[in-house]
Amino acid sequence: MSFNLHPLINNGLKKGTDDFSGGSLHCHCKSSPVTISLSSNVAHNHACGCSKCWKPSGAIFSIVGVVPRSSLSVSSGANKLYIVDEKAVIQRHACKECGVHMFGRIETEHAFHGLDFVHVELSDEKGWQEPQFAAFVSSVIEQGLIAPEQADKVRAQLKGLGLETYDALSPGLMDAIATFVAKKNGALRESKL
Ligand SMILES: [Zn+2]
Ligand SMILES: [Zn+2]
Repeated sequence: MSFNLHPLINNGLKKGTDDFSGGSLHCHCKSSPVTISLSSNVAHNHACGCSKCWKPSGAIFSIVGVVPRSSLSVSSGANKLYIVDEKAVIQRHACKECGVHMFGRIETEHAFHGLDFVHVELSDEKGWQEPQFAAFVSSVIEQGLIAPEQADKVRAQLKGLGLETYDALSPGLMDAIATFVAKKNGALRESKL
């Protein structure tokens, strides 16, 4: 038995194209959808099991990547957007009508300030960076999406796709957050190598 990880990856990863330079994303509304346009490809695209990232119905994971804030603009339907949780670090701007999250933005001092979080499955274009890893895998147990005994099977399925699994973010992103905090606290150590 295989799990519905996410429609974008259930049947294997589709590699992105190196020179892909962005496209548009639209919400699920049949009439006057919210549309945003991205002038760059995503980076750090990954499967995320956290409870906050938007997931298509039935999927255990979200697929989420980042773009520089400067490459994102809302092309239509801005009046339908609202912020899901004003208190969250990532302010997720979603469509009031269909509930799809169009982009997440950080307004506070944070390692990822300046990056917007987006879901490329909302695009009809091909060439977006394929997912690179799976984050917050154990969180899907908390949400009742799988039984605890199934976690290792989910990890095996992700690894079979070529996605390393983590129960936080990937080491590179965790290091980026920790470096930011060290700098802020004046504790950043210089390499002696
Ligand atoms: Zn919508
Ligand atoms: Zn998440």
